[in-house]
Amino acid sequence: MSTQKTIRKMFSGNCVFIAGVTSLDILPDTSVAEVAFAGRSNVGKSSLLNAMTGQANLARTSHTPGRTQQLNFFTVGDEKLRLVDLPGYGYAKASKSDVKAWNKLIRQYLKGRPNLRHVYVLVDSRHGLKDVDIEVMKMLDDAAVAYQIILTKSDKVKKDAMEKVKERVEKALKSHPAAFPTPHATSSHKKYGLTELQHMVYKLSQ
Ligand code: GDP
Repeated sequence: MSTQKTIRKMFSGNCVFIAGVTSLDILPDTSVAEVAFAGRSNVGKSSLLNAMTGQANLARTSHTPGRTQQLNFFTVGDEKLRLVDLPGYGYAKASKSDVKAWNKLIRQYLKGRPNLRHVYVLVDSRHGLKDVDIEVMKMLDDAAVAYQIILTKSDKVKKDAMEKVKERVEKALKSHPAAFPTPHATSSHKKYGLTELQHMVYKLSQ
C-alpha cells in the first residue's frame, strides 16, 4: 500500500478512545508509541484532533475551558500509535491548586513515559507564545521530550501577520533545545495543514 493510502486509512474514522485518566497510577501500558497534544484552554486542540482524525466528536470541544484535568488516550491505525490529549492549561479562572495539580500530572507523565515520541504544543496564531506556553516548553526541554509548535486557527490571521508570528516563534525556539526549529500552521475550520500533520504523526509511528 502507498504511504498516502496508509495514512488515509490510519486516520479515516479509525480512532478509538481507550482511556481517560486523572491519576498516573492507571496509565495504559507502554507498548505503543504515543504522540501527545498540549495547549492553552481554548487553543483549538479538540477541534484539531477531531479534524485530523475525521471524527467530529473524538475529542470534546470545550465550552467550559480548563474544567477537565484528564489525559485522554486514543488509538489510531490498528493500535500502531496512540494520540494523547493532554488537559488544557492557562485557564484564567483556574485556582492555584488546579495549576499545581496540572503541573504535577504533566511533569510525571512526561518524565515517566518511555513510549512518548513527540509532543505538539498548540499555540493560537493570533496570540503567539504566552508565558504559560514557555513554561510548558521548559518542562519539555527538562524532560528531553521532542516537541513542535502548532500554530492553530491560522484562518483568523492575515498572511503577513502569520509570517510575523512564525518569525517570533522561530526566534524563541532557538533557546529551547528539545524543540523542532519551525512551527507548523493549521486551521481546523479551513482544513489547512492537516494532511501534513497526519503525515508528521504517521512518521512518528514508524
Ligand atoms: P480546546 O479548548 O483547545 O479543545 O479548543 P476547542 O477545539 O474547543 O476550540 C475553541 C474555540 O476555537 C471554539 O469556538 C472553536 O470553534 C474555535 N476554533 C477551533 N479551531 C479553529 C480554527 O481552526 N479556526 C477558527 N477560526 N476557530 C477555531
